[in-house]
Amino acid sequence: MVQIVVGANWGDEGKGKVTDLLAEKSSVVVRFQGGANAGHTIINEYGKFALHLLPSGVFHQNVTNIIGPGVALNIESLLSELHALEERGVPAPKLLISDRCQVMMPWHVDFDRFEEERLGKQSFGSTKSGIAPFYSDKFAKVGLQVCQLYDAKLLRERLAIALVKVNCLLEHLYHKPTLDVETVAREMEAQAEKIRPMVADTTRFLHEADKRGEVILLEGQLGTLRDPDHGIYPYTTSSSPLAGYGPVGAGVPVRSVQEIYCVTKAYSSAVGAGPFTVRLHGDEAENLRRRGGDAGEYGATTGRPRDVGWFDAVATRYGVQVQGATQVVVTNLDVLGYLDEIPVCVAYETADGRRITDFPATPELMGCKPIFERLPGWKCDIRGIRDYDALPENCKRYVDFIEKAVGAPVTMVSNGPRREEMLYRK
Ligand code: GDP
Repeated sequence: MVQIVVGANWGDEGKGKVTDLLAEKSSVVVRFQGGANAGHTIINEYGKFALHLLPSGVFHQNVTNIIGPGVALNIESLLSELHALEERGVPAPKLLISDRCQVMMPWHVDFDRFEEERLGKQSFGSTKSGIAPFYSDKFAKVGLQVCQLYDAKLLRERLAIALVKVNCLLEHLYHKPTLDVETVAREMEAQAEKIRPMVADTTRFLHEADKRGEVILLEGQLGTLRDPDHGIYPYTTSSSPLAGYGPVGAGVPVRSVQEIYCVTKAYSSAVGAGPFTVRLHGDEAENLRRRGGDAGEYGATTGRPRDVGWFDAVATRYGVQVQGATQVVVTNLDVLGYLDEIPVCVAYETADGRRITDFPATPELMGCKPIFERLPGWKCDIRGIRDYDALPENCKRYVDFIEKAVGAPVTMVSNGPRREEMLYRK
Protein backbone atom coordinates (compact mmCIF):
# COMPACT_ATOMS: atom_id res chain seq x y z
CA MET A 1 0.00 0.00 0.00
CA VAL A 2 1.46 3.31 -1.09
CA GLN A 3 1.00 6.66 0.64
CA ILE A 4 2.43 9.90 -0.70
CA VAL A 5 3.37 13.11 1.12
CA VAL A 6 3.53 16.18 -1.12
CA GLY A 7 3.43 19.97 -0.85
CA ALA A 8 0.46 22.12 -1.92
CA ASN A 9 2.39 25.31 -2.50
CA TRP A 10 5.90 26.61 -3.18
CA GLY A 11 7.75 24.09 -0.98
CA ASP A 12 8.78 24.24 2.71
CA GLU A 13 5.26 23.33 3.83
CA GLY A 14 6.54 21.01 6.57
CA LYS A 15 6.54 17.74 4.59
CA GLY A 16 9.65 16.46 6.40
CA LYS A 17 7.94 16.52 9.75
CA VAL A 18 4.84 14.80 8.36
CA THR A 19 6.94 12.12 6.65
CA ASP A 20 9.01 11.53 9.78
CA LEU A 21 5.77 11.06 11.69
CA LEU A 22 4.14 8.74 9.13
CA ALA A 23 7.41 6.77 8.78
CA GLU A 24 6.74 5.29 12.22
CA LYS A 25 4.00 3.16 10.66
CA SER A 26 5.75 2.49 7.34
CA SER A 27 8.21 -0.16 6.14
CA VAL A 28 9.74 1.89 3.36
CA VAL A 29 10.25 5.62 2.71
CA VAL A 30 11.16 6.64 -0.83
CA ARG A 31 12.41 9.88 -2.39
CA PHE A 32 11.09 9.99 -5.95
CA GLN A 33 12.31 13.27 -7.47
CA GLY A 34 14.53 16.31 -6.93
CA GLY A 35 17.91 16.26 -5.28
CA ALA A 36 19.95 18.09 -2.69
CA ASN A 37 18.41 21.43 -3.72
CA ALA A 38 15.84 21.72 -0.94
CA GLY A 39 15.69 20.68 2.67
CA HIS A 40 13.32 19.02 5.07
CA THR A 41 13.57 20.09 8.69
CA ILE A 42 13.07 17.35 11.24
CA ILE A 43 13.17 17.79 14.99
CA ASN A 44 13.12 14.60 17.06
CA GLU A 45 14.85 12.88 19.97
CA TYR A 46 18.25 13.13 18.20
CA GLY A 47 18.03 16.90 17.67
CA LYS A 48 17.31 19.11 14.68
CA PHE A 49 18.26 18.00 11.18
CA ALA A 50 17.98 19.49 7.70
CA LEU A 51 17.79 16.54 5.31
CA HIS A 52 18.40 17.25 1.65
CA LEU A 53 18.76 13.96 -0.20
CA LEU A 54 18.13 11.41 2.52
CA PRO A 55 14.54 10.22 2.89
CA SER A 56 12.88 11.38 6.12
CA GLY A 57 12.58 7.79 7.35
CA VAL A 58 16.27 7.62 8.30
CA PHE A 59 15.50 8.11 11.99
CA HIS A 60 13.44 4.93 12.16
CA GLN A 61 15.28 1.64 12.42
CA ASN A 62 12.26 -0.31 11.10
CA VAL A 63 12.28 1.66 7.84
CA THR A 64 14.16 0.92 4.61
CA ASN A 65 14.94 4.24 2.93
CA ILE A 66 15.17 4.37 -0.83
CA ILE A 67 16.60 6.85 -3.31
CA GLY A 68 14.38 6.16 -6.30
CA PRO A 69 15.31 6.36 -9.99
CA GLY A 70 13.65 9.79 -10.34
CA VAL A 71 16.09 11.47 -7.95
CA ALA A 72 19.13 13.58 -8.90
CA LEU A 73 21.77 11.78 -6.86
CA ASN A 74 24.70 13.87 -5.72
CA ILE A 75 26.86 11.13 -4.22
CA GLU A 76 29.13 13.43 -2.20
CA SER A 77 26.13 15.25 -0.68
CA LEU A 78 24.50 11.96 0.23
CA LEU A 79 27.65 10.68 1.93
CA SER A 80 28.12 13.87 3.91
CA GLU A 81 24.50 13.75 5.09
CA LEU A 82 24.99 10.16 6.23
CA HIS A 83 28.18 11.16 7.99
CA ALA A 84 26.40 14.03 9.77
CA LEU A 85 23.77 11.60 11.13
CA GLU A 86 26.47 9.23 12.37
CA GLU A 87 28.35 12.07 14.08
CA ARG A 88 25.22 13.02 15.99
CA GLY A 89 24.52 9.53 17.27
CA VAL A 90 21.73 8.47 14.91
CA PRO A 91 21.98 4.69 14.31
CA ALA A 92 23.03 3.87 10.72
CA PRO A 93 19.85 3.91 8.62
CA LYS A 94 18.89 1.20 6.16
CA LEU A 95 19.42 2.87 2.79
CA LEU A 96 19.12 1.58 -0.77
CA ILE A 97 19.93 3.47 -3.97
CA SER A 98 18.25 2.53 -7.24
CA ASP A 99 20.73 1.21 -9.79
CA ARG A 100 18.74 3.23 -12.35
CA CYS A 101 19.08 6.49 -10.46
CA GLN A 102 21.13 9.08 -12.37
CA VAL A 103 24.10 10.82 -10.82
CA MET A 104 25.02 14.45 -10.54
CA MET A 105 28.15 15.04 -12.61
CA PRO A 106 30.79 17.64 -11.75
CA TRP A 107 29.72 19.94 -14.59
CA HIS A 108 26.07 20.05 -13.54
CA VAL A 109 26.75 22.12 -10.43
CA ASP A 110 29.20 24.35 -12.35
CA PHE A 111 26.73 24.91 -15.19
CA ASP A 112 24.04 25.97 -12.75
CA ARG A 113 26.35 28.65 -11.39
CA PHE A 114 27.64 29.76 -14.80
CA GLU A 115 24.12 29.93 -16.17
CA GLU A 116 22.84 32.07 -13.31
CA GLU A 117 25.84 34.40 -13.89
CA ARG A 118 25.04 34.56 -17.60
CA LEU A 119 21.33 35.28 -17.04
CA GLY A 120 22.02 37.87 -14.32
CA LYS A 121 18.76 39.57 -13.30
CA GLN A 122 16.72 37.26 -15.54
CA SER A 123 17.77 34.15 -13.63
CA PHE A 124 15.13 31.78 -12.25
CA GLY A 125 16.26 31.64 -8.63
CA SER A 126 18.24 28.41 -8.82
CA THR A 127 19.74 26.95 -5.66
CA LYS A 128 22.83 26.22 -7.79
CA SER A 129 22.87 22.54 -6.90
CA GLY A 130 23.02 21.44 -10.53
CA ILE A 131 19.39 20.34 -10.76
CA ALA A 132 18.39 21.98 -14.07
CA PRO A 133 21.57 20.89 -15.97
CA PHE A 134 21.19 17.39 -14.45
CA TYR A 135 17.61 16.90 -15.68
CA SER A 136 18.47 18.51 -19.05
CA ASP A 137 21.15 15.85 -19.57
CA LYS A 138 18.88 13.08 -18.29
CA PHE A 139 16.15 13.84 -20.79
CA ALA A 140 18.67 14.54 -23.57
CA LYS A 141 19.85 10.98 -22.80
CA VAL A 142 23.46 11.91 -22.07
CA GLY A 143 23.13 11.39 -18.30
CA LEU A 144 24.72 8.55 -16.34
CA GLN A 145 22.88 5.97 -14.29
CA VAL A 146 24.46 4.59 -11.11
CA CYS A 147 24.77 1.13 -12.71
CA GLN A 148 26.83 2.60 -15.56
CA LEU A 149 29.52 3.81 -13.14
CA TYR A 150 30.64 0.20 -12.49
CA ASP A 151 31.49 -0.59 -16.12
CA ALA A 152 34.79 1.16 -16.92
CA LYS A 153 34.43 0.92 -20.69
CA LEU A 154 30.79 1.98 -20.81
CA LEU A 155 31.42 4.87 -18.42
CA ARG A 156 34.20 6.25 -20.63
CA GLU A 157 32.10 5.83 -23.79
CA ARG A 158 29.16 7.66 -22.22
CA LEU A 159 31.42 10.42 -20.91
CA ALA A 160 33.05 10.89 -24.31
CA ILE A 161 29.60 11.52 -25.82
CA ALA A 162 28.50 13.89 -23.05
CA LEU A 163 31.73 15.86 -22.87
CA VAL A 164 31.69 16.93 -26.53
CA LYS A 165 28.77 19.22 -25.80
CA VAL A 166 29.81 20.05 -22.24
CA ASN A 167 33.25 21.22 -23.39
CA CYS A 168 31.80 23.22 -26.23
CA LEU A 169 29.68 25.15 -23.73
CA LEU A 170 32.50 25.47 -21.21
CA GLU A 171 34.87 26.88 -23.81
CA HIS A 172 32.67 29.02 -26.01
CA LEU A 173 29.69 30.05 -23.86
CA TYR A 174 31.13 30.28 -20.36
CA HIS A 175 34.86 30.73 -21.18
CA LYS A 176 35.97 28.20 -18.56
CA PRO A 177 38.51 25.33 -18.60
CA THR A 178 37.32 22.13 -20.32
CA LEU A 179 37.03 18.63 -18.79
CA ASP A 180 38.68 15.40 -19.88
CA VAL A 181 37.12 11.93 -19.92
CA GLU A 182 39.71 10.13 -17.82
CA THR A 183 39.74 12.66 -14.95
CA VAL A 184 35.94 12.70 -14.68
CA ALA A 185 35.74 8.89 -15.03
CA ARG A 186 38.16 8.34 -12.15
CA GLU A 187 36.36 10.86 -9.94
CA MET A 188 33.02 9.17 -10.58
CA GLU A 189 34.46 5.69 -10.07
CA ALA A 190 35.83 6.74 -6.69
CA GLN A 191 32.39 8.10 -5.70
CA ALA A 192 30.67 4.95 -6.99
CA GLU A 193 32.83 2.66 -4.85
CA LYS A 194 31.67 4.44 -1.70
CA ILE A 195 28.00 3.68 -2.37
CA ARG A 196 28.41 0.21 -3.92
CA PRO A 197 26.92 -1.72 -0.94
CA MET A 198 23.74 0.39 -1.09
CA VAL A 199 23.04 0.04 -4.82
CA ALA A 200 20.16 -2.29 -5.59
CA ASP A 201 17.24 -3.08 -7.87
CA THR A 202 14.90 -0.99 -5.74
CA THR A 203 11.97 -1.41 -8.14
CA ARG A 204 11.90 -5.16 -7.51
CA PHE A 205 12.32 -4.53 -3.77
CA LEU A 206 9.35 -2.14 -3.76
CA HIS A 207 7.09 -4.36 -5.82
CA GLU A 208 7.76 -7.24 -3.43
CA ALA A 209 7.11 -5.06 -0.38
CA ASP A 210 3.88 -3.87 -1.99
CA LYS A 211 2.76 -7.44 -2.67
CA ARG A 212 3.34 -8.31 1.00
CA GLY A 213 0.99 -5.43 1.87
CA GLU A 214 3.65 -3.30 3.56
CA VAL A 215 3.18 0.46 3.88
CA ILE A 216 5.39 2.35 1.41
CA LEU A 217 5.66 6.09 1.91
CA LEU A 218 6.73 8.33 -0.98
CA GLU A 219 8.19 11.67 0.03
CA GLY A 220 7.87 14.64 -2.32
CA GLN A 221 10.16 17.63 -2.37
CA LEU A 222 9.01 21.23 -3.03
CA GLY A 223 5.32 21.69 -3.94
CA THR A 224 2.72 21.87 -6.72
CA LEU A 225 3.64 25.37 -7.86
CA ARG A 226 7.21 24.28 -8.63
CA ASP A 227 6.04 21.55 -11.02
CA PRO A 228 7.45 22.15 -14.52
CA ASP A 229 4.05 21.48 -16.15
CA HIS A 230 1.51 22.70 -13.62
CA GLY A 231 3.51 25.27 -11.67
CA ILE A 232 4.68 28.83 -12.19
CA TYR A 233 6.92 28.02 -15.17
CA PRO A 234 9.71 29.01 -15.68
CA TYR A 235 10.10 29.65 -11.93
CA THR A 236 9.78 25.94 -11.31
CA THR A 237 12.05 23.07 -10.54
CA SER A 238 13.12 20.54 -13.17
CA SER A 239 11.40 17.36 -11.94
CA SER A 240 7.78 16.85 -11.00
CA PRO A 241 6.92 17.21 -7.29
CA LEU A 242 3.41 15.89 -7.94
CA ALA A 243 1.91 12.82 -6.33
CA GLY A 244 1.07 11.68 -9.87
CA TYR A 245 4.78 11.41 -10.61
CA GLY A 246 5.44 9.53 -7.36
CA PRO A 247 4.85 6.01 -8.69
CA VAL A 248 7.04 6.78 -11.73
CA GLY A 249 9.97 8.33 -9.89
CA ALA A 250 9.86 5.75 -7.10
CA GLY A 251 9.04 2.64 -9.11
CA VAL A 252 5.77 1.42 -7.56
CA PRO A 253 2.49 0.45 -9.26
CA VAL A 254 0.16 3.43 -9.57
CA ARG A 255 -2.82 1.27 -8.57
CA SER A 256 -1.25 0.74 -5.12
CA VAL A 257 -1.54 4.42 -4.16
CA GLN A 258 -4.19 4.79 -1.46
CA GLU A 259 -3.49 8.05 0.37
CA ILE A 260 -2.13 11.40 -0.79
CA TYR A 261 -1.28 13.70 2.11
CA CYS A 262 -1.02 17.25 0.81
CA VAL A 263 0.78 19.58 3.22
CA THR A 264 0.17 23.33 3.44
CA LYS A 265 1.18 25.98 5.94
CA ALA A 266 -1.44 28.08 7.72
CA TYR A 267 0.17 31.06 5.92
CA SER A 268 2.34 31.26 2.79
CA SER A 269 6.09 31.15 2.30
CA ALA A 270 8.31 30.86 -0.77
CA VAL A 271 12.00 30.93 -1.57
CA GLY A 272 13.43 31.98 -4.89
CA ALA A 273 12.25 34.01 -7.85
CA GLY A 274 8.82 34.14 -9.47
CA PRO A 275 5.33 35.45 -8.81
CA PHE A 276 4.16 35.21 -5.19
CA THR A 277 0.88 37.12 -5.13
CA VAL A 278 0.51 37.36 -1.34
CA ARG A 279 4.10 38.57 -0.71
CA LEU A 280 4.31 40.87 2.35
CA HIS A 281 6.87 43.62 2.81
CA GLY A 282 8.38 45.63 5.66
CA ASP A 283 7.42 45.10 9.31
CA GLU A 284 4.37 42.98 8.50
CA ALA A 285 6.63 40.52 6.66
CA GLU A 286 9.35 40.58 9.29
CA ASN A 287 6.86 39.92 12.11
CA LEU A 288 5.60 36.79 10.36
CA ARG A 289 9.02 35.64 9.09
CA ARG A 290 10.56 35.90 12.54
CA ARG A 291 7.84 33.75 14.10
CA GLY A 292 7.49 31.21 11.27
CA GLY A 293 8.81 27.64 11.24
CA ASP A 294 11.04 26.47 14.06
CA ALA A 295 13.57 29.32 13.84
CA GLY A 296 12.11 31.89 11.46
CA GLU A 297 11.47 31.47 7.75
CA TYR A 298 14.93 30.91 6.33
CA GLY A 299 15.62 28.21 3.71
CA ALA A 300 16.78 24.84 5.12
CA THR A 301 19.33 24.37 2.30
CA THR A 302 20.24 27.90 1.26
CA GLY A 303 19.65 29.94 4.46
CA ARG A 304 17.93 32.52 2.24
CA PRO A 305 15.14 34.53 3.98
CA ARG A 306 11.86 33.16 2.68
CA ASP A 307 9.22 35.48 1.30
CA VAL A 308 6.13 35.28 3.46
CA GLY A 309 2.46 36.16 3.07
CA TRP A 310 -1.01 35.32 4.31
CA PHE A 311 -2.77 32.07 3.41
CA ASP A 312 -3.52 32.03 -0.32
CA ALA A 313 -6.75 30.12 -0.93
CA VAL A 314 -6.51 30.53 -4.71
CA ALA A 315 -3.04 29.00 -5.00
CA THR A 316 -3.61 26.36 -2.31
CA ARG A 317 -6.93 25.11 -3.70
CA TYR A 318 -5.20 24.68 -7.07
CA GLY A 319 -2.23 23.01 -5.38
CA VAL A 320 -4.42 20.54 -3.48
CA GLN A 321 -6.49 19.73 -6.58
CA VAL A 322 -3.49 19.13 -8.83
CA GLN A 323 -1.97 16.84 -6.20
CA GLY A 324 -5.23 14.89 -6.02
CA ALA A 325 -5.08 15.05 -2.23
CA THR A 326 -7.10 12.56 -0.24
CA GLN A 327 -6.30 14.55 2.91
CA VAL A 328 -4.70 17.86 3.83
CA VAL A 329 -2.25 18.57 6.66
CA VAL A 330 -2.07 22.18 7.92
CA THR A 331 1.25 23.05 9.58
CA ASN A 332 2.54 26.08 11.49
CA LEU A 333 -0.88 26.98 12.86
CA ASP A 334 0.79 28.07 16.13
CA VAL A 335 2.66 30.82 14.27
CA LEU A 336 -0.50 32.92 13.77
CA GLY A 337 -1.34 33.23 17.48
CA TYR A 338 -0.08 36.87 17.66
CA LEU A 339 -2.71 38.35 15.35
CA ASP A 340 -6.00 40.08 16.29
CA GLU A 341 -7.31 39.41 12.82
CA ILE A 342 -5.86 37.10 10.19
CA PRO A 343 -6.04 38.17 6.55
CA VAL A 344 -6.65 35.37 4.04
CA CYS A 345 -6.44 35.77 0.27
CA VAL A 346 -9.76 34.59 -1.21
CA ALA A 347 -9.43 35.81 -4.81
CA TYR A 348 -7.08 37.64 -7.19
CA GLU A 349 -7.65 40.85 -9.10
CA THR A 350 -6.15 40.59 -12.58
CA ALA A 351 -4.25 43.44 -14.27
CA ASP A 352 -7.43 44.33 -16.23
CA GLY A 353 -9.57 44.44 -13.10
CA ARG A 354 -11.32 41.06 -13.12
CA ARG A 355 -11.87 39.07 -9.92
CA ILE A 356 -10.72 35.46 -10.36
CA THR A 357 -10.66 32.47 -8.02
CA ASP A 358 -8.99 29.95 -10.37
CA PHE A 359 -5.19 30.01 -10.31
CA PRO A 360 -4.05 31.40 -13.68
CA ALA A 361 -1.00 30.59 -15.86
CA THR A 362 2.15 32.58 -15.16
CA PRO A 363 1.81 35.58 -17.53
CA GLU A 364 -1.61 36.48 -16.08
CA LEU A 365 -0.51 35.60 -12.54
CA MET A 366 2.32 38.15 -12.83
CA GLY A 367 -0.24 40.97 -12.96
CA CYS A 368 -2.54 39.69 -10.17
CA LYS A 369 -3.12 41.37 -6.83
CA PRO A 370 -4.53 39.56 -3.78
CA ILE A 371 -8.06 40.21 -2.49
CA PHE A 372 -8.23 39.63 1.26
CA GLU A 373 -10.88 38.81 3.82
CA ARG A 374 -10.17 38.87 7.55
CA LEU A 375 -10.84 36.10 10.03
CA PRO A 376 -10.80 36.62 13.80
CA GLY A 377 -7.54 35.60 15.50
CA TRP A 378 -7.27 33.52 18.70
CA LYS A 379 -4.56 35.59 20.38
CA CYS A 380 -2.87 32.87 22.39
CA ASP A 381 -0.15 30.27 22.21
CA ILE A 382 -1.57 26.93 21.07
CA ARG A 383 1.67 24.97 21.42
CA GLY A 384 1.31 22.33 24.08
CA ILE A 385 -2.32 21.57 23.22
CA ARG A 386 -2.58 17.83 22.52
CA ASP A 387 -6.21 17.46 21.54
CA TYR A 388 -7.78 19.12 18.50
CA ASP A 389 -11.03 19.83 20.35
CA ALA A 390 -9.12 21.81 22.99
CA LEU A 391 -8.03 24.43 20.41
CA PRO A 392 -9.61 27.90 20.74
CA GLU A 393 -12.86 28.24 18.76
CA ASN A 394 -11.44 30.86 16.38
CA CYS A 395 -8.51 28.59 15.68
CA LYS A 396 -10.84 25.73 14.73
CA ARG A 397 -12.86 28.16 12.58
CA TYR A 398 -9.65 29.06 10.78
CA VAL A 399 -9.03 25.38 10.01
CA ASP A 400 -12.67 25.01 8.87
CA PHE A 401 -12.10 27.95 6.53
CA ILE A 402 -8.99 26.29 5.03
CA GLU A 403 -10.83 22.99 4.56
CA LYS A 404 -13.71 24.66 2.75
CA ALA A 405 -11.33 26.80 0.67
CA VAL A 406 -9.16 23.91 -0.55
CA GLY A 407 -11.94 21.39 -1.08
CA ALA A 408 -10.35 18.38 0.67
CA PRO A 409 -10.55 17.15 4.28
CA VAL A 410 -8.05 18.59 6.76
CA THR A 411 -7.20 15.59 8.93
CA MET A 412 -4.06 16.74 10.73
CA VAL A 413 -3.01 20.09 12.17
CA SER A 414 0.50 20.82 13.33
CA ASN A 415 0.94 23.20 16.26
CA GLY A 416 4.72 23.19 16.62
CA PRO A 417 7.83 21.94 14.84
CA ARG A 418 8.42 18.84 17.00
CA ARG A 419 7.35 15.34 15.98
CA GLU A 420 4.77 15.03 18.78
CA GLU A 421 3.15 18.41 18.03
CA MET A 422 0.41 17.10 15.75
CA LEU A 423 -3.34 17.21 16.34
CA TYR A 424 -5.71 14.77 14.68
CA ARG A 425 -9.04 16.15 13.51
CA LYS A 426 -11.91 13.74 13.48
P1 GDP B 1 9.59 20.77 3.96
O1 GDP B 1 10.63 21.05 2.93
O2 GDP B 1 8.21 20.77 3.40
O3 GDP B 1 9.90 19.56 4.76
O4 GDP B 1 9.57 22.00 4.97
P2 GDP B 1 10.79 22.68 5.74
O5 GDP B 1 11.33 21.77 6.72
O6 GDP B 1 11.73 23.31 4.77
O7 GDP B 1 10.03 23.92 6.42
C1 GDP B 1 9.08 23.79 7.37
C2 GDP B 1 9.48 24.61 8.57
O8 GDP B 1 8.42 24.64 9.47
C3 GDP B 1 10.64 24.00 9.35
O9 GDP B 1 11.35 25.04 9.96
C4 GDP B 1 9.91 23.13 10.39
O10 GDP B 1 10.69 22.87 11.55
C5 GDP B 1 8.77 24.03 10.71
N1 GDP B 1 7.54 23.43 11.19
C6 GDP B 1 6.86 22.33 10.71
N2 GDP B 1 5.66 22.24 11.33
C7 GDP B 1 5.58 23.30 12.17
C8 GDP B 1 4.57 23.78 13.06
O11 GDP B 1 3.49 23.23 13.16
N3 GDP B 1 4.85 24.91 13.77
C9 GDP B 1 6.02 25.57 13.67
N4 GDP B 1 6.21 26.66 14.37
N5 GDP B 1 6.99 25.15 12.83
C10 GDP B 1 6.76 24.04 12.09
